[in-house]
Amino acid sequence: MDDRQLRVLLVDDDEDDYIMTRDLLSEVKNRQIALDWVSTFDDGIAAMGQNSHEVYLLDYRLGARTGLELMRESIANGCKAPMILLTGQGDHRVDLEAMKAGAADYLVKGEISALLLERSMRYAIEKKRAEAQILHMAYYDNLTNLPNRLLFQDRLSQAIVQAERYERMSAMLFLDLDNFKRINDTFGHRIGDLLLKAVADRLKESVRDSDSVARQHADILNVTVARQGGDEFTVLLSEVRKPQDVARVAQRFLDKLARPFLLDGHEVFITASIGIAIYAIDGKDFESLLKNADAAMYHAKGQGKNNYQFYKQSMNATALEKLELENDLRRALARKEFLLYYQPQIDVRTGEIVGMEALIRWQHPVRGLVSPADFIPLTEETGLIVPIGEWVLQTACKQSKAWQAAGFAPIPVSVNLSSRQFRQRVLLQTIEQAMDASGLDCRHIVLEITESVVMQEQEASRALLVELASKGLRLAMDDFGTGYSSLSNLKRFPIDAIKIDRSFVMDITTDPDDAAITKAIIAMGRSLNLNVIAEGVETEEQLAFLYQQGCHMIQGFLISRPVPMEEAAKLLAREKAGDGIGLEICRRIVKHCGGKAEVK
Ligand code: C2E
Ligand code: MG
Ligand code: MG
Repeated sequence: MDDRQLRVLLVDDDEDDYIMTRDLLSEVKNRQIALDWVSTFDDGIAAMGQNSHEVYLLDYRLGARTGLELMRESIANGCKAPMILLTGQGDHRVDLEAMKAGAADYLVKGEISALLLERSMRYAIEKKRAEAQILHMAYYDNLTNLPNRLLFQDRLSQAIVQAERYERMSAMLFLDLDNFKRINDTFGHRIGDLLLKAVADRLKESVRDSDSVARQHADILNVTVARQGGDEFTVLLSEVRKPQDVARVAQRFLDKLARPFLLDGHEVFITASIGIAIYAIDGKDFESLLKNADAAMYHAKGQGKNNYQFYKQSMNATALEKLELENDLRRALARKEFLLYYQPQIDVRTGEIVGMEALIRWQHPVRGLVSPADFIPLTEETGLIVPIGEWVLQTACKQSKAWQAAGFAPIPVSVNLSSRQFRQRVLLQTIEQAMDASGLDCRHIVLEITESVVMQEQEASRALLVELASKGLRLAMDDFGTGYSSLSNLKRFPIDAIKIDRSFVMDITTDPDDAAITKAIIAMGRSLNLNVIAEGVETEEQLAFLYQQGCHMIQGFLISRPVPMEEAAKLLAREKAGDGIGLEICRRIVKHCGGKAEVK
């Protein structure tokens, strides 16, 4: 006897029939039965949608509708439990139709006994269970309980349809354990089987993790891990945005498998080789994707195992390089490979250093010194800019404080904020922490934000800038002139300075348009009482032009390139000794322009 309670739902519009069924079921001796009853088609749909009964008894006549329709609709809605159709005497011939619609049985009301009803329900449940089991056996791997090749193939076909429709990528990973045979030979097949099960669990686990990580970036939404047979597993990633996301999942598999397995008292180590094929690029159907992922897996074996490889078509050289760069970048912070260089800003009227811009450099172990233009965009894309930006702020603040401690006059240090940093909620906190940790006064930090970033979401930007300014921080609009701000717009932002973009300064002495734009920017800045700093000043002619137009602050190779921290300290020492780096040039220029008074 089964002592679990059996939950049964009757859908019947006749209360007498309900009472009859209830009485019959109460006669059933060896099983506790709880009968629920609803009397309309719609209530039936709703109740069956809950999937909380083990058997449904459906009356054939339900007002204007029939039990057959209810059956079909509920099955389409995902209702799983078996259904038994109850017919009146006159509806005798619906039996075939009932079976076709998916009924487990049909009973004629007048002929039902308690015994018959109980047996019919029991058979219906058993039959359903057996069907489900057969289905499971057909689609799942017996040992690991992962989807098998057949189900994987089915999921892949679905993914292909989706990929076509939504222009997303799908990728197939083919994973083969390295030297699995040795495990079998050393420990025996039983441990071998245990290992396969444990590997299956770890693979599932790592996509569960990666799922949540990936979901944050909304890059991978759907994962199927399957066993192909032997020590081979396949993974389907659908709705992927870029190959890098696939690579990340592959790496996570390798990392997860790297931890030792404890099997029956034995500590077992295993690695895997993974081949990756991407839908449409490396194949358009299951067979060709599988073949190419398999080929890529062999390539991974050839590369010394315990690694992943893309099938060669899917990644051109630049994408691969980018991927490598991204991997290197992830480690760069921990390996202390970043440096700050400093470029002095000069007041032309006095020749004195009035600020230092901190500019990041990456000392790559193989590539050498990498310029920010080559890696900042990637850090933005991956979100790495947030921890890196934090490091920049902290380092710049500490440096500024250290210079003060060394006896130099306080020099404002400018720090560049990228767009992603600027949109991060934690920005304020990060800044405050950097200030606290270094003990630097807010007045000695200038945050540089590019004009285009500020102009993107003006209201949000303004609110943030107002908040930053209220803390006493100074703000400069970087690369000015490229973001098309209007004068009236600029007034709305609490900024201290604008920096004229290098691209204008470059041609001011040769291109009348650039000269005109630069003049206008300077005039506009001055009318708003903003400091105007020209970037990228390389020649004395440019300096003279800028000075004549009333731009007094400049930064550029003419005075100094960005230099490492020690050299920057030397520049400050020279300045302190009265031999500032810009003194001579600035004196000459001011003298040269002496006759032509500066624009007021
Ligand atoms: P930016 O803020 O506009 O920095 C000025 C860039 O112009 C620097 O390039 C500087 O070396 C260069 N430069 C200065 N004077 C001259 C000159 O006379 N001639 C020429 N040809 N170039 C000059 P760098 O250091 O390569 O930086 C490029 C950009 O990378 C920066 O542009 C900034 O947007 C970004 N960046 C640099 N450091 C950081 C950082 O720590 N965080 C963030 N988010 N971005 C940074
Ligand atoms: Mg800058
Ligand atoms: Mg700039």
